[in-house]
Amino acid sequence: MPDLDTVRTQLEARLAALLAEAKEIDAELSEPHGRDWEERATESEGDEVLEGLGNAAMAEARRIQAALTHIDEGSYGTCTSCGEPVGDKRLEAVPDAALCINYASR
Ligand SMILES: [Zn+2]
Repeated sequence: MPDLDTVRTQLEARLAALLAEAKEIDAELSEPHGRDWEERATESEGDEVLEGLGNAAMAEARRIQAALTHIDEGSYGTCTSCGEPVGDKRLEAVPDAALCINYASR
């Protein structure tokens, strides 16, 4: 099992980068109403911000959020489908993996 504090730091950094990207995209989309956006942004840092992202980036952000929840719950590294360990090598390659290689490849 990888060090959870290290994994959490990695995941949080990646999530922050995705959120920053989403904000930029949304700011561009919402010009010339930039001021409205700023007010909204302070209220909702989470899901609404993610709407500005492309589908792939948004899916990644949701996987990261799920992985962070699993770390909190102590279920990180356990396949959400079969309950078997996801595997250290797979977690190293894909820190937000929620499925073991058997289920992910199906
Ligand atoms: Zn599995």
